[in-house]
Amino acid sequence: MADAPHNPQHLFSLKMRASAHLNGQECHISGAEKILPKEQLPDVARALVSRGLNHAKGDADFLNLKIEELAPEAILYLDAPPVTTIEVDTWQEGLREVERFLREEGIANIEGIMQRLQESYAMRGAMLLDIHTLERLEPDQARGVRATYMDCERTDSPPLSDVKNHFAEAIVLAAKVMNCPGVVGEICISDDPDYVTGYVASQKAGYRRITRMKPLGSEQGGRIFLFDTTLASPADAIRFLEKQPVIVRSVARPEAVARPEAVARPFGSVEAVTRPCGPAKEVARPYRSGENTYLSRFREKLANLRENKLFRTMRTIESAQASHVVSGGREMVLMASNSYLDLTAHPLMKQRCAEALEKYGFGAGGSRLTTGNTDLHETLERKIASFKGTEAAVLFNTGYTANTAIIAALADKESVVFSDELNHASIIDGCRLSRAKVVIYRHNDMADLEAKIRENPCANGLVVSDAVFSMDGDILQFPRFLDICEKHDLLSMIDEAHSTGVLGEHGHGIQEHFHESRYPDILMGTLSKAVGAEGGYAACSQLLADYLRNTARGFIFSTAMSPVTAQAALTGLELIEREPERVQQLHRNIACFCEALREGGLNVSSETPIIPIVIGDEGRALAVAQQLYEAGILIPAIRYPTVAKGSARLRVSLMATHTEEELHRAAALICQTIS
Ligand SMILES: *Cc1c(COP(=O)(O)O)cnc(C)c1O
Repeated sequence: MADAPHNPQHLFSLKMRASAHLNGQECHISGAEKILPKEQLPDVARALVSRGLNHAKGDADFLNLKIEELAPEAILYLDAPPVTTIEVDTWQEGLREVERFLREEGIANIEGIMQRLQESYAMRGAMLLDIHTLERLEPDQARGVRATYMDCERTDSPPLSDVKNHFAEAIVLAAKVMNCPGVVGEICISDDPDYVTGYVASQKAGYRRITRMKPLGSEQGGRIFLFDTTLASPADAIRFLEKQPVIVRSVARPEAVARPEAVARPFGSVEAVTRPCGPAKEVARPYRSGENTYLSRFREKLANLRENKLFRTMRTIESAQASHVVSGGREMVLMASNSYLDLTAHPLMKQRCAEALEKYGFGAGGSRLTTGNTDLHETLERKIASFKGTEAAVLFNTGYTANTAIIAALADKESVVFSDELNHASIIDGCRLSRAKVVIYRHNDMADLEAKIRENPCANGLVVSDAVFSMDGDILQFPRFLDICEKHDLLSMIDEAHSTGVLGEHGHGIQEHFHESRYPDILMGTLSKAVGAEGGYAACSQLLADYLRNTARGFIFSTAMSPVTAQAALTGLELIEREPERVQQLHRNIACFCEALREGGLNVSSETPIIPIVIGDEGRALAVAQQLYEAGILIPAIRYPTVAKGSARLRVSLMATHTEEELHRAAALICQTIS
């Protein structure tokens, strides 16, 4: 504890809390608290209001600003705890560091406490946990305990920046909590999706930062105050946490700790490689510090994205990709996967891949043209050709690579590529890479395509289109498309990323859907969606296959896909043929879900599992997605640049394995949330 200053200032507590209301439910957006002298109040208040109103989490419709004078003698001055940093590579390792801390503190029921930590994820405040009985001691268990009336001491001018200093705020909280009567330790994970560092703290351990305690993008924060009822009464502790004004001195930047000695270990044994990567290690940061023009340009761009609610973070899935997944430690119904037939974790898939792994190991070790071509790659190419009914097929490592490589090989500076305005980004990039003249025609508008072809006569032309459009889920007018390409003698290419395994009674794709016997020159597709594996392909004539193998740079200059991946794709295609009921069930699910949405008042229809529910505003789309997430349904919002600005949407994609009950529940919830 620190001495009070000789000449205590009159200080004020300033608190800001911003929230938004969705369907009468309050949703926290942002909050902050400062303790300041009177003359700094107006500027800091303005900065906090601006932070509350312009937060990446969404648009606040309610903002509370509260200013109170604090009696000088009531303020408790504390020294900041000593800080150490524990660098971990994964959040799972981070949680193991929490367990280590609990052991060091002599706390008995570690497993029970870790369990409680997960339960605290849903709370806004902290859990006050009896370390002996694991009982929760806070009177309002939904709200938890909230420590307030605290700030760091300011020796310089007030911080007007609206950037939140998580570290300083955390130190202040930890200092207050570890000085609270009866509290023997604290565990804290922020609910800010961009901030994965958390900490544990106690009088003995000080403040121990742990660099990863949750997946990036997760909003699952949680906080536990470990309480020993033999030392104090819960009521006194809660009074201290919620009412006692505290100012914390000497809050500094985090300091690095020395890197522990590396442990030498033998190579080559399973034991050696499966051991965890040694104890906590501190990495010397190789990053430039300070500002220069490049860094500030990047920073500005990121700030801009945040402001426009376009900043991207990743959500982590901790299980197989299936209709049910675990995310943030919680089981969710996944309604946004491209794994339409739910094959990624099919027992046969696992078994065959395990066998392939046993036989081939993992890496291919070379490109297809040098040393990386195995019999599995060749079998897969033959399988794709037979599945599509073409003479041949050429494999690429991803669908993205396939599009860029194929288009750049088929077109050059002298060519014209006619491309649908809603084609996938990989097609757009392929066009750029080819340096051809690119002519964009209106979405799925065959009259416009033909008009554009007439306006741009060329000796070497290519027309390219998605078969099923990835963001809108509509289907190309395929027969008309072929008519036009034939009539004008143009090369034709279709991207079947979302039609293979989806369209047609047996999932063979767009030809089967239209009962069309003619072929475009290239049927491109991916093995990473309905097929449940990874990779891209061109199904085509033998001539074009030879041509691509000899000229497509994305084929030539890249290591072959893993033989295990090839086996996975092979198995996926085989399963589509062996279990045709999956495709049929997918079709039934599409009809059932659209019907349920229409009953709920949304005018939706689709022939494909991609069902966009356009919301418009980016912030609102995020808020709706968040509400669904809280109800256990995972459907992320899709925003610019994936779709046009102001047309943010929920992009539902269905699986064959969603149950009727799940489809009805999700549809009802969606209708309720956005109406
Ligand atoms: C997903 C997708 C691709 C890219 O395929 P990957 O295998 O994921 O790289 C290409 N085109 C379309 C239309 C897609 O939706």
